[in-house]
Amino acid sequence: MSFQVFGIPVSRGVAIGRAVLVASSRVDVAHYFVDEADIPEETKRALRARDEVARELETLKQELPDDAPQELAALLDVHLMLLHDEALIDATKQWIVERHYNAEWALSAQLEVLARQFDEMEDDYLRERKADLEQVVERLLAALSSDAQGAQLGAASIVQRDFDGEDPLLLVAADVAPADMLQFKKSVFQGFITDIGGKTSHTAIVARSMDIPAVVGTREASRLIRQDDWVIIDGDVGAVIVNPSPIMLEEYRFRQRQSELERARLTRLRHTPAVTLDGERIELHANIEMPADATAAVAAGATGVGLFRSEFLFMNRGGDLPSEEEQFQAYKAAVEAMGGMPVTIRTVDVGADKPLDRMTANELRHEHVLNPAMGLRAIRWSLAEPAMFRQQLRAIYRASAFGKLRLLIPMVAHLAEIRQIQETIRRVKQQLADAGQAFTDIELGVMVEIPAAAVMLPLLLPHVDFISIGTNDLIQYTLAIDRADEAVAHLYDPWHPAVLQLISTSIAQARTAGKSVSVCGEMAGDVAFTDVLLAMGLRSFSMHPSQIPAVKQRVLRADAGRLAQALPMVLQAEDPEKAAQLAFATPGRAQ
Ligand code: PEP
Ligand code: MG
Repeated sequence: MSFQVFGIPVSRGVAIGRAVLVASSRVDVAHYFVDEADIPEETKRALRARDEVARELETLKQELPDDAPQELAALLDVHLMLLHDEALIDATKQWIVERHYNAEWALSAQLEVLARQFDEMEDDYLRERKADLEQVVERLLAALSSDAQGAQLGAASIVQRDFDGEDPLLLVAADVAPADMLQFKKSVFQGFITDIGGKTSHTAIVARSMDIPAVVGTREASRLIRQDDWVIIDGDVGAVIVNPSPIMLEEYRFRQRQSELERARLTRLRHTPAVTLDGERIELHANIEMPADATAAVAAGATGVGLFRSEFLFMNRGGDLPSEEEQFQAYKAAVEAMGGMPVTIRTVDVGADKPLDRMTANELRHEHVLNPAMGLRAIRWSLAEPAMFRQQLRAIYRASAFGKLRLLIPMVAHLAEIRQIQETIRRVKQQLADAGQAFTDIELGVMVEIPAAAVMLPLLLPHVDFISIGTNDLIQYTLAIDRADEAVAHLYDPWHPAVLQLISTSIAQARTAGKSVSVCGEMAGDVAFTDVLLAMGLRSFSMHPSQIPAVKQRVLRADAGRLAQALPMVLQAEDPEKAAQLAFATPGRAQ
């Protein structure tokens, strides 16, 4: 049966493929594809695991003390029956043979299928057997892990592999931690659907950086969509169409081809300098999460990196922090890949919806920290861990010997923080000098993403070389809207007059002070805001590499002087979005 689920569109385009439910942390297994030639061995692994668990259960049964309650023996019988049911192992084999899933993935896929069947049962007794099935599968997974070559890959590891003629795969999950999204970057998935999340949650940001269609905040997609269902993701409007009709499929395939053509057309702008009609040169920089992303940045025509979110180097390490040497190599790799163009490294910004481990924002919110977005995150965490902070600064300063680096500090709200940072920098430079390490001076910038920083900017500006406006958090804190919470996503409004006022005055004050200013939040990469940001006097934008061509096209068609004249009308309007459409409209230009 065909049906639709709606959510928040976070990454544009159309994806069509089969659903892969990576549903719950209960199924904490590696996902990877096995080669055709290895399929017989992989099915044997599944059978070996079954035999091992059968032996385990039989032994447990035999060793039950005579006075053990009868229910225990009966329970073990139920487990044995489930284990030998063809709906489990035979169907698991089918996932391996037909879809090339590794045994763990195949087993967890089949668990999802069966768990749903149990959920739908009328009979209470039978419905409750789901827990038994889960226990049996857990035993099987444990047995598999003892001979798994892929177990060490971790829960989210899905290794890239070309499958000519295979159906594309779309990931469906209740929630995905940013750390897992990072793993998915190397994966086969061509689209994402999650129940949780907002437009600028970090899960959405990483999905966008992968440049594949994504819809978040659907609330129930992972419950409604079944393993292997055919699904269309319409990342432009936030719709998910499950089991589409042939006509729908045809229509969306057509749209998919159109958007590919449009992308190909835009990439031709790659070497065109971003200059407005009235001759203003605009810097279009890239936001990256890993040094390897710099390649995509250069390919997209970025003229620098405006935001290297260094915290992603700190994730997926089981609590360990990256060493100074490892960080140095990463920063050096990024700066070298950019070939002389500037690279802005932001010091670690963990916390809120970016925990170090695989915890999702939702788990964090409900189980661990009272109010993570307002807690010990970003520079607050760095200053609370001075040794860790010095280590990161040393790595950054050492990398400065290999190219043009800039240092950006997240979540600054107090002058005292800047003083502490400067003192730490002075110490770090002294340490490096004493050790004979090469480094150069680096410009120091702060993110303007807490309203307090925007309001007191004239006091902060004399102490820094540049500012970067983080609109994602600035909107979150100005409007008191959790950026990762789909329940209030409709109130997360970049067009809110208060938000526009703060951005506009920050840009103006930085320019007046002769300090460079850029915007690196998601607004910078959204063409809906290019005109208004240009009108405010912004000349440096930082965004995901994939967004650069479209923003550049917008810049090439803009007259910055004319836009600036229309700005007061927009800033004073009750509905700035509508006012902008009218005020910035160019006769004859399609908006
Ligand atoms: C922002 O807040 O706008 C920003 C760029 O930082 P992050 O999204 O990583 O919090
Ligand atoms: Mg931020």
